[in-house]
Amino acid sequence: MMKRVCVFCGSSRGTNPAYCEAAQKLGHVLAKRGLELVFGAGHIGLMGVLADAVIAAGGHTTGVIPRAMVDRELAHAGLGRLHIVDTMHERKALMADLSDAFIALPGGFGTADELFEILTWAQLGIHQKPVGLVNTAGFFDPLLAWLDRAVTDGFLKPKHRRLLIEAANVEELLDRLGQFHPVPSQGIESADR
Ligand code: AMP
Repeated sequence: MMKRVCVFCGSSRGTNPAYCEAAQKLGHVLAKRGLELVFGAGHIGLMGVLADAVIAAGGHTTGVIPRAMVDRELAHAGLGRLHIVDTMHERKALMADLSDAFIALPGGFGTADELFEILTWAQLGIHQKPVGLVNTAGFFDPLLAWLDRAVTDGFLKPKHRRLLIEAANVEELLDRLGQFHPVPSQGIESADR
C-alpha cells in the first residue's frame, strides 16, 4: 500500500513553464490521494513549487536535508516534518527508508543521482518499491534513449530496464506506481547472468 511518495526534482525551475505546472499538479494530486510527500526539503526550484502545492492542497510533507543546507537557509520553512541529517548519503538513505515509491520530475545532477541510486538499489534487490518518472515535455527522452542503448549494447538487462516506469503525466504515473508488482527473481547478481 502506497502511503509516502518520494519525489526527486530540480532545485531550479527550468525554462519551460510545463515543468512548474507538472510539479504543481503532482503536489495537488498527492494531497488529493492522501499520499505524503517525502523530498529533499528545499524551498527553491521545482522542489519548492511541489511542496507549496502539497501544502496548499492540505497534504502532508516530510523533508530530509543535510545540516549544511539548512544553514544556507535552503530548507522550506512550512513542512510538516523536517529531518536534519549529517550527509547527502544519509539523506538519500532516509528518504529511501521513509518512502513507498519514488518519482523523478525534471532536474539536473542531483535529480539524476537520486533517481539512478534508487534504481540501482532496485536492481540489486535492496528494495522492491516502484520507481517512475514524469516525462514532461519529453524532457527525459534522451535519458530513456540512452537506457535503451545500454540494453542493446549489453550493459542493462531488459528486466532491469523495466524497473523504470514512465508516464507522460502525473496521474497516469501514480496509477502505474500503485499497480507495480516487484520482479520475484531480483536479488544481488551481476549484469551478465
Ligand atoms: P538538481 O537536480 O541538481 O537541481 O538537484 C535536485 C535534487 O538534489 C533534489 O531532489 C534534492 O534532493 C537535492 N538538492 C539539490 N540542491 C538542493 C538544495 N539547494 N536544497 C535542497 N535539496 C537540494
